[in-house]
Amino acid sequence: MDQHAVRILIRRKLADARLPQDLPRVTGGPGSGQTCVGCDLPIPADHYAIQSIGDAKAIELHTGCFYYWDAERTRPAREGASAASA
Ligand SMILES: [Zn+2]
Repeated sequence: MDQHAVRILIRRKLADARLPQDLPRVTGGPGSGQTCVGCDLPIPADHYAIQSIGDAKAIELHTGCFYYWDAERTRPAREGASAASA
């Protein structure tokens, strides 16, 4: 899946609440084979993964997907805004 497609998928998941808007406490470590909540692909043990900890529902993402999610969740809303940017 290319980077643009992953960003679009993450944007959609944020829009319909499949991904949280709030940043949970996170830690990192090797993947466990769990499915990445960003791109829906497994995270193998030889890849680094970002995992939520604490009270939030446990989620695991590829590092790249985590950064896309963080960028998308903090991105000013543009779709549907009155000012169309080029
Ligand atoms: Zn991913």
